[in-house]
Amino acid sequence: MINKQDIINRFISYVTIDTESDPESETTPSTEKQWDLAKKLADELLDMGMSDVSIDDNAYIMATLPSNVDHEVPTIGFISHFDTSPDFTGANVKPQIIENYDGKDIILNAEQNIILSPDYFEDLLQYEGQTLITTDGTTLLGADDKAGITEIMSAMKYLLEHPEIKHGTIKVGFTPDEEIGRGAHKFDVEKFGADWAYTMDGSQIGELEYENFNAAGAVITAKGKIVHPGYAKGKMVNSMYYASEFINTLPPLERPEHTEGYEGFFHLYDIDGSVEETTLKYIIRDHDADKFEAKKALMEKIVLDLNTKFEALIFDIDIKDQYFNMKEKVEPVMHIVDIAEDAMKALDIEPLIKPIRGGTDGSQLSYMGLPCPNIFAGGHNFHGRYEYVPVESMIKATEVICKIAELTAERYE
Ligand SMILES: [Zn+2]
Repeated sequence: MINKQDIINRFISYVTIDTESDPESETTPSTEKQWDLAKKLADELLDMGMSDVSIDDNAYIMATLPSNVDHEVPTIGFISHFDTSPDFTGANVKPQIIENYDGKDIILNAEQNIILSPDYFEDLLQYEGQTLITTDGTTLLGADDKAGITEIMSAMKYLLEHPEIKHGTIKVGFTPDEEIGRGAHKFDVEKFGADWAYTMDGSQIGELEYENFNAAGAVITAKGKIVHPGYAKGKMVNSMYYASEFINTLPPLERPEHTEGYEGFFHLYDIDGSVEETTLKYIIRDHDADKFEAKKALMEKIVLDLNTKFEALIFDIDIKDQYFNMKEKVEPVMHIVDIAEDAMKALDIEPLIKPIRGGTDGSQLSYMGLPCPNIFAGGHNFHGRYEYVPVESMIKATEVICKIAELTAERYE
């Protein structure tokens, strides 16, 4: 049995260390303070008896749990990230423990009247009777992804203490800067040496994900001509009006606010405009590779059409791919998803398999040669003051890691 108090203590010891990452920084890790937790994790891995513990110049941590069986078993890995989102402050996190949750409003902060309510966050109701860890309403919690770190650490400790559980070689990887999209960038897949891995970075209990968006970014620039407005007749070209024509030519229903499931979108997230020049920034998302290509082609066609219509090179477009759907890389090795699913079922967890409407480090790693589905870490309402995690979900995720290790060894006997 995984000890509940140990999970709570370990989790709290991690979330009370501020590791917020910074998209403006060019260093790795992006913030110096991420070293505080990185060094602690490396020390703890050594103390518990893991082998080949290493921490590189960019704060990537790797460690090995050696196989305890005689037969050949594929090497599997478990990965999570120790930075927290720059969307909300992660300094001075003061976790609150709500035992035997009664299904009612939780007062996060009486002074500021900040309430975590099941009226708004219905997911809370599935955790009645459980132990929840919440914030004090003034910071994020950092369950994303310190819950994942807690689970991997706890599972390794458990397997080390229980050699009767048979497993092959297990690799552990902890990364900085996932929240700013760089967690996989400096991950040394070859050094890690796993045949496949799982990121422990999903949300509610049961989540198992191996499909994500194909993603690109587009910058559209419209050029105008500034002239004194009093003397502008026949001379002024106001780029902002042209830019709005571009915006209105894209299909209005293919926006984030009108899409779900497998539906892709164009998302305009930034406009910077003046008469002379207007820049539009979009992200383009679609699970389907063909539809993704069609979306990019449509944007280019609109630019071409508008330039033709206005008989001038008003518009310029620059599209860059960002990441791709890991399904392409995981489907040829579907047994790695099946093992995770079977592990959950063996533990009475109902697997929730659904496409991610975003990306994960696992999608980048999959394209770097390490197929890497994503498994629940247990938390909810990431990146904000309402973030919380049920301790029971963290225990289950820890058990899932141990069970995947065990099933993999069994299957290759
Ligand atoms: Zn995360």
